Amino acid sequence: MGIQEDLRALPAMHRLLADADVQRALDEFSPRLRRWALEQVLAELRTWRRAHVDVRPESWQAQTEPLRIAECAKRLLQARTAPSLRRVINATGVVLHTNLGRAPLSNRALQRVQAVAAGYCNLEYDLARGERGSRHTHVEARLRELTGAEAALVVNNNAAAVWLVLNALAKGGEAVVSRGQLVEIGGSFRIPDIMRESGVTLREVGTTNKTRLSDYAQAIGPETRMVVLVHPSNYRIVGFTGEPPLAGVVELAHERQILVYQDLGSGALFDYAAHGVGDEPTVRASLDAGVDIVSFSGDKLLGSAQAGIIVGRCELIERLRKHPLMRALRVDKLTLAALDATLADLADEEHARVRIPVVRMLTESEETVRARADEVASGLAQAIPDLAVQCDVRPSQATVGGGALPLTMLPSHAVCLRPSRCSAQQLADALRREGEPPVVGRVENDEVWLDMRTVQPWEVHELIQAVAAVLGGGMDKG
Ligand SMILES: *Cc1c(COP(=O)(O)O)cnc(C)c1O
Repeated sequence: MGIQEDLRALPAMHRLLADADVQRALDEFSPRLRRWALEQVLAELRTWRRAHVDVRPESWQAQTEPLRIAECAKRLLQARTAPSLRRVINATGVVLHTNLGRAPLSNRALQRVQAVAAGYCNLEYDLARGERGSRHTHVEARLRELTGAEAALVVNNNAAAVWLVLNALAKGGEAVVSRGQLVEIGGSFRIPDIMRESGVTLREVGTTNKTRLSDYAQAIGPETRMVVLVHPSNYRIVGFTGEPPLAGVVELAHERQILVYQDLGSGALFDYAAHGVGDEPTVRASLDAGVDIVSFSGDKLLGSAQAGIIVGRCELIERLRKHPLMRALRVDKLTLAALDATLADLADEEHARVRIPVVRMLTESEETVRARADEVASGLAQAIPDLAVQCDVRPSQATVGGGALPLTMLPSHAVCLRPSRCSAQQLADALRREGEPPVVGRVENDEVWLDMRTVQPWEVHELIQAVAAVLGGGMDKG
């Protein structure tokens, strides 16, 4: 048949819309979307037919079956309505993986977010008095209790906190920073740049590997507003090194009547070091040593939503709160709800270890991780009897990530997949692209390593299903 006849034989829109098979295939979509998608498919078929002179009649007939058209329309609509931001299974072994969204939230935090966001809430409303309240009060009491600070304030992230503290308390003056602490955190955040943008002149002291108290003493002058101590989050200087003790710096600064601000980066509220993980000092320890103001992230070692938390002396926090740009940096109700719940769990160490995913992952015993690896490996062996891969459990090393505790290795176990019909890289790509949900692992020695420290207990079943589906699908056929 000729092109014109074939085009005329295409089912008409009103026929497609009335077809029972088509209706069933597209019943989850609105009439408007159904019509839009069917029009797209018909237009594509017309274009394709015009571009192909010799098309067998059976082939054209099969392609233009109403059900076939409906299935194409359905795929189109699914792609159109699919979310861009998706949950993934983190099998990289990097706990605070910044590219994968850092800290997963606890159940309690999720419930608080849902409860607060589903309706109205008392974000800036004092329920006792029936009048306007402040959003800053919701987590302040808990932060004071957990850190021993006089006052607390939450902003959008720690980068915003650093800018705000510098701009509000040292603008127009100098800030003294050790050369060993001029940190860059992930590309765009560099301490010297932030200083400049906040209107503060950077005064470097000491050397890269050693800074003495006498260096600070010499650098402090009439224009100096504060000493800034920056946590060297993502690197360590080892060997012939030294920074003066915190208490010494505080004493010197206070003698000269200037402030001490510490950007702690991760800011542990949970005492990880006491549980044998790393050597991170707690926020409380800094305040106890006399530091005037401290800032840290909400979604690093704290294990909650993205936020920048600032704690310290009342009078200083009050100045930050009144800053003209505070409104641009403030957090929303979802963040406050999540943070409130996480801070409540942090009040009890045992609750924290069970309930806050980041705390659990960082402190979980090696045996528990190994048991999870065994469970995934045997689940996979059952799900795909004729395994297209060799699957072994091997010791692995997980890391903290997020620019925290760079030298701390967490003993872990990985499920290692060695595919027989494709390369490990191809399997890793397929797990990421086709996994439902996407699975992100790492490739080592031509094997895909799925590190089990960062796979949550409730994700085990899903992980087995996702890997089995990918291996049983396209990958298996090579
Ligand atoms: C991570 C980090 C920051 C930035 O914190 P965000 O919450 O990611 O904005 C700033 N300073 C230090 C020392 C850090 O480790």
